[in-house]
Amino acid sequence: MSSTMEELIGLTHKLQKACTKLGEFGTEALPSLWNSLPSIVAIGGQSSGKSSVLESIVGRDFLPRGSGIVTRRPLILQLYNIQQGKDEYAEFLHLPNKRFTDFSLVRKEIQDETDKVTGKSGHISSIPIELSIYSPNVVNLGMIDLPGLTKVAVEGQPETIAQDIEKLVRSYVEKPNCLILAVTPANQDVATSDAIRLAREVDPAGERTFGVLTKLDLMDKGTNALEVLEGKAYRLQRPWVGTVNRSQADINKNVDMLAARKSESIFFATNPDYAHLASRMGAVYLAKLLSRDLENVIKTKLPGIASLIKEAIVEVESELDQLGRPVTVDTGAQLYTVLELCRAFDRTFAEYLEGGRSGGDRIYEVFGTMLPKALRKIPFDRHLSVENVKRVVSQADGYQPHLMAPELGYRLLIEGAIEYFKDPALSSVETIHRVLTELVRKAIGGTQELKRFPTLQHAILSAANAALATFREDSKKTTLRLVEMESSYITPNFFRKLSSTTVVPYTEEYYQKISSNVSSYVNMVSETLKNSIPKAVVLCQVRQAKQSLLHQFYTQLGRKEGKLAQLLDEDWLLRERRETCLKRLELYKSARDEIDSVSWE
Ligand code: GDP
Ligand code: MG
Repeated sequence: MSSTMEELIGLTHKLQKACTKLGEFGTEALPSLWNSLPSIVAIGGQSSGKSSVLESIVGRDFLPRGSGIVTRRPLILQLYNIQQGKDEYAEFLHLPNKRFTDFSLVRKEIQDETDKVTGKSGHISSIPIELSIYSPNVVNLGMIDLPGLTKVAVEGQPETIAQDIEKLVRSYVEKPNCLILAVTPANQDVATSDAIRLAREVDPAGERTFGVLTKLDLMDKGTNALEVLEGKAYRLQRPWVGTVNRSQADINKNVDMLAARKSESIFFATNPDYAHLASRMGAVYLAKLLSRDLENVIKTKLPGIASLIKEAIVEVESELDQLGRPVTVDTGAQLYTVLELCRAFDRTFAEYLEGGRSGGDRIYEVFGTMLPKALRKIPFDRHLSVENVKRVVSQADGYQPHLMAPELGYRLLIEGAIEYFKDPALSSVETIHRVLTELVRKAIGGTQELKRFPTLQHAILSAANAALATFREDSKKTTLRLVEMESSYITPNFFRKLSSTTVVPYTEEYYQKISSNVSSYVNMVSETLKNSIPKAVVLCQVRQAKQSLLHQFYTQLGRKEGKLAQLLDEDWLLRERRETCLKRLELYKSARDEIDSVSWE
């Protein structure tokens, strides 16, 4: 492997770990970092050494190399860093699930795949071959090997070959997110380098172009490339790097990568022309330059990604808060939880009851508007019409007409009138009952903590409704009692104040007088009930509801020990969601730690 990548490997390995973890959850933050890393594209004339340079950066022999037009389809190479100790392998997009561990077979597959599309001719195809290499010794990097630029068509090639290749190459190097390796052989005139020409066109400032001079070993004796390598001949933002890769003879002799790097470094160290530049020459150094570039990209993007992860952590944590903690198996803790939840419901209910609008307001409306209106609507004019008064009085008298005043008639008329108050009293009770039932329903739905416990929700709802029904019965009894009290004892003083002597008995006027006397008494009773019915209703229903809606339920809970778990049965969807959240949280946190532990020298 090329040792130069080691520093970057350490860094990217950590990030990759975090990235894969997050990737499992479709968190785009880190994976998008990899996508946004620049890819490295090698361009240059045919046989200029592009494939050789890319291989030396990767540190593996796997690309077809040779004279003539060898690379005839773009090769999109994706390198993936895997854990140390795991076996290195390669995979083609067109051969999914087939793992190549022998890299000479990778080279053969590239050749076969190329021939399949282009034939054995010198034709090129723009359809890329996509190859992934998984290795502990590479960084996550995209590299693209392209057909060589050419000026003339050779036997069997279409006339347009030169333009076709240039168009293809241009489509890759135009992308601003790519680093260009402009490969030029040193034994050629750099002034005529197509690689430099094209790089200048797409990257005029030279910001992303690396000038790579190959075949320094093949230069004529007595000549050197110092003018170019020192940046005097062609100025680029980035330093020029000279390389010596394996010659065709080396390849034929199976000289391995390690030996090739060694002889390259000996070449620079011992060549008097280049000795002073030795530390800035060679494939190893080129790889270092590229690593630094990638590292810078990672460095600038990392804080943003780290804060995205932190945001995600906060988000998941707040969702978990909402979902609530998992229920314990301990009976005591379960009872505590149930009681807590009941209390939460009680609080919500009390808030609704005391709050305006649908709660307190509606109760007041019953007493302030509805009840007085119902009282006013009682048909006393019919009950106290002269006719009816006359009928009741004479029936009460029987065969013996009254002597002084129609006492019994008065009583019957008053008792009859008071009967009419029962209806409005009972409908007040019913209306309040409806309001309270509605508030209970709303409070169940409005208690956030209860949301995850449908069974308990249901239990509380029916317990509360049962309690409200009991309160209603009590309230009915009490209000009816109030009405009955009014007919049980008629206030004598009221009548003593009235003088019946001035009117001649048994006349129309006489009965009129009785009617109006009863009417004023009944009005007084109506005033009293208008005030006392609300008191009874509030005492029996509203206040009870506020104070002891769930008392009965609490008593029952003590006997339900074994069934508490059932009450706390959660919605399974919710339970699943919580598990997912917990798992995600754990991964986010380890991704965050992974990133936090990245040390920048
Ligand atoms: P490509 O067509 O640009 O991809 O070039 P290749 O990498 O296939 O190389 C073309 C030929 O040049 C091969 O035979 C290589 O062995 C040879 N070659 C590449 N670089 C060097 C070098 O630095 N020195 C020598 N002597 N031969 C090289
Ligand atoms: Mg090639």
